[in-house]
Amino acid sequence: MEPHVLRSMRTSGWIEIVCGSMFSGKTEELIRRLKRAKIARQSVEIFKPGVDTRFSDDEVVSHDANVIQSTSVSSASQIILLASNADVVGIDEGQFFDNDLVDVCRELATLGKRVIVAGLDQDYLGRPFEPIPQLMAVAEFVTKLHAICMVCGAPANHSQRLTAGDQRVILGATETYEPRCRDCFDPSDSHDLPKLESDGSTTESINQLIDSK
Ligand SMILES: [Zn+2]
Repeated sequence: MEPHVLRSMRTSGWIEIVCGSMFSGKTEELIRRLKRAKIARQSVEIFKPGVDTRFSDDEVVSHDANVIQSTSVSSASQIILLASNADVVGIDEGQFFDNDLVDVCRELATLGKRVIVAGLDQDYLGRPFEPIPQLMAVAEFVTKLHAICMVCGAPANHSQRLTAGDQRVILGATETYEPRCRDCFDPSDSHDLPKLESDGSTTESINQLIDSK
């Protein structure tokens, strides 16, 4: 059920999580929900982490080029200040924020706002990708989307990395990952493949990753 149509919840805020693998349509689903809120003349603010520079600096862009204006922030705490007048707060690429995002979302919901976070729930090794699992625990509504396995066509829950490296995140989704089901997913594969040029360090720090590009 669409959470925002529940009349009984109109006086308090809540948290919705849209999670899944790469290419599962998370951003498209976030944009769909935000557009519907806009049509209802609700005040909508959309945020994305400053590290996600794949396509555009001031728009949330999904892989199918569905675009919505957004604000880039360097930390989750900035969202509190910038979202003060919003009824609905959308946050894309939630996995790029640190665990402060959990408290930020809870505070926004306590203030009466509808908070929608889209993000990867697992990394390229199939490990839970914080802070999305923590957000799923405190959210009122969790939507888990699936892509289609590019090997066998089953529902895909994993993101298979197609290049080598032990960084947790490599930007540039299209050439770097493909969706795989549990049977076809093999994280050990990623160690036997050609290295990306930007893949010289072992850090999991997003900022250092960006600086190296
Ligand atoms: Zn498969």
